[in-house]
Amino acid sequence: MQFGSVAFFKMLIKIVLSIIFFLPLVLCIVFAVLLWNSNAEVNELKKDNERLEYYSLILSGEREPTVSGFYDIYARSGLSDEELIEYVLHGKDGAAQEVSDDAVDTATSAALTSDVSQPEQQTEDNSSASDEPDALQTDTEPVSQYAGIYPEMTVTPPSEDDYVRELGTVYLTFDDGPSDNTYSILSYLEQYNIKATFFVVPTRTESCYAKLRAIAEAGHSIGVHSASHVYDDIYSSVEAFLEDFHDAWDIIYDATGIKTEIFRFPGGSVNDFNADTRDYIIQEMTRRGFRFFDWNVDSNDAGGANWTEMYNSIPADIAENYRSVVLMHDSASTPNTVLVLGDVLHVLTNEGYKFDKINNDTLPVQFTGPFA
Ligand SMILES: [Zn+2]
Repeated sequence: MQFGSVAFFKMLIKIVLSIIFFLPLVLCIVFAVLLWNSNAEVNELKKDNERLEYYSLILSGEREPTVSGFYDIYARSGLSDEELIEYVLHGKDGAAQEVSDDAVDTATSAALTSDVSQPEQQTEDNSSASDEPDALQTDTEPVSQYAGIYPEMTVTPPSEDDYVRELGTVYLTFDDGPSDNTYSILSYLEQYNIKATFFVVPTRTESCYAKLRAIAEAGHSIGVHSASHVYDDIYSSVEAFLEDFHDAWDIIYDATGIKTEIFRFPGGSVNDFNADTRDYIIQEMTRRGFRFFDWNVDSNDAGGANWTEMYNSIPADIAENYRSVVLMHDSASTPNTVLVLGDVLHVLTNEGYKFDKINNDTLPVQFTGPFA
């Protein structure tokens, strides 16, 4: 191609045209990318600020670390599962220091000098507050006036450090069974390869024994709920509670050979019937080594929730928790539980939750705390 030839000018025109069309396009893309990056940076800074604010509220005690709040903040804080557990069990001294260090680093990088001093001071406040429960615990080793009742009914609980507490674990629990629904519940659990926990109200009948054995053989946990489930009776005194507990425990043992070490109070540990006896019963059962489990997700099946309500609420409530103990019923009066169970399990397994049965080394969820 010669300089000044027709071909040369054709090529020149092509080059000029392509520059006119493509240069603005390239510039647009470059600016878009730059804008995107700076937005991401701004968002990251905003998140850091929210996090700092949240930390300082929790550390100062102005805000309780609720179950979902705990998850939001501490899970986002970059602490590992072990460090989170460390924080919950021993709190304050170990992990909290890291949290505040982390906050300080973030604050420095975000140039928020005024917030730096706050978390540090409040960490100290918290650690001094945490000495009180420790002192209480060492004081409560009483010689029980109930020690003579069923003296053999004791178990060795794990030490606090050995409790299992895993992020995202779902513990399904079925109260009041066995019932006509037991086999259906077992079949759904088997279909999804899930182990669950049955807090039973057992009777000395052949059909009850068969169902208890089916639950045990499928590898689920069995805990005591009650023999009578009559609130007025079992909560009338510590003695009455122990007798009812022993009846239920003994039927479970007779049917399955399992010496269960876990239980659930009828109506939960805090209810309208046990205001006067609750503390004494809990103290005595704790002395005996048994652990009770309340719940932090209520399917509300016993309250008459229908299919749609449970299908929506159970996964939504589980999503709010660090880990979940879900209350459901294995009872003729709660047929909707069986109707919705398969669909709920389908949703939960798709969302990737881990399931486990409750054992004596599972860190309890109790209305009086720990909450998750
Ligand atoms: Zn019940």
